[in-house]
Amino acid sequence: GVLDLVTTALYTAKKLGKNTYFEFKQDNLAEIDRKAHVLDVLKKTIKNNSFELHYQPYFNIQTGELVAFEALCRVVDGNDYIAPEEFIKIAEDNNVIWEVDKSAMAGACKMLAVFQDMGIRTGISVNVSPISFMNQEFIPEIEKLLKRYKIFTNSLMVELTETAFIESFSRAKDVITALSELGIRLMLDDFGKGYSNLLAVMKLNVDTLKFDKSLIDEIEDIRSNIIVKKMIEIADTFNMKVIAEGIETRMQFEELKRMNCTMGQGFLFGKPMAYEEVFPFIRSHGNILDLAE
Ligand code: C2E
Ligand code: MG
Ligand code: MG
Repeated sequence: GVLDLVTTALYTAKKLGKNTYFEFKQDNLAEIDRKAHVLDVLKKTIKNNSFELHYQPYFNIQTGELVAFEALCRVVDGNDYIAPEEFIKIAEDNNVIWEVDKSAMAGACKMLAVFQDMGIRTGISVNVSPISFMNQEFIPEIEKLLKRYKIFTNSLMVELTETAFIESFSRAKDVITALSELGIRLMLDDFGKGYSNLLAVMKLNVDTLKFDKSLIDEIEDIRSNIIVKKMIEIADTFNMKVIAEGIETRMQFEELKRMNCTMGQGFLFGKPMAYEEVFPFIRSHGNILDLAE
């Protein structure tokens, strides 16, 4: 109701700081209302454990083989989905991101167990917020899931953005070491989007650099092209693999293949899909090299 909105507005003003003048405009009301709604749906989804996971495939673009699926979290709101771009930030700001990530990790492990039972040798990567990554419960939770679902070594991967290293490099380093001891590989997500400290990244035990879509979008631009090409060479020197995300055109695919990029993901190869779509996809898309012909 209106009273809730006023309370939220006052609370927001308070959070912004003592001397902040909070403009009470129609815009802000709509925004606050939407955020409150998303948080409400989020909390219900947590309570009912009703997150959905969608799975987007990625391939070795040199051999054409299906490598893994990325698990992407979905929140159902009536007949719609709330986009992760919207709810992840709200979950982080309201201290419920750990619940979201925990549910996604459990779902990913459950799916891996299904794959293993069916003899499907395909990995799964799961996105983890830097906040969850730094949570003391993170490693114990992963250990618990690996045991419960009898997950094979190297089949679960964690995708993390570089913001995790900004707060505490040494702590992040410890968690990465603990992960690799558990047989979990680390992928650095959205690489090239922010302002990566290259030297720091190269000192970490990162298995795969995941090049941000913005770099791939600009691959026809000569500067971006050179940067991607050189970064692939550097990654190779440090024994890191590279995956390009957001590949939408054949031209991008062929260019990346020529540059010796290891893996690729994007709408060209497959969109995120619901659970029941995954198995027919695996049966019919074991290899994507036909695209290159
Ligand atoms: P991300 O991890 O970088 O995931 C890639 C996003 O790009 C996904 O959006 C995917 O659907 C989209 N995408 C993939 N290929 C293409 C393409 O060829 N073209 C275009 N235009 N888009 C493409 P989605 O599923 O909406 O997820 C957005 C972000 O939300 C993810 O970015 C990730 O950072 C975050 N996220 C998703 N699930 C989780 C989760 O369980 N936990 C956390 N902490 N974050 C999550
Ligand atoms: Mg990701
Ligand atoms: Mg990304």
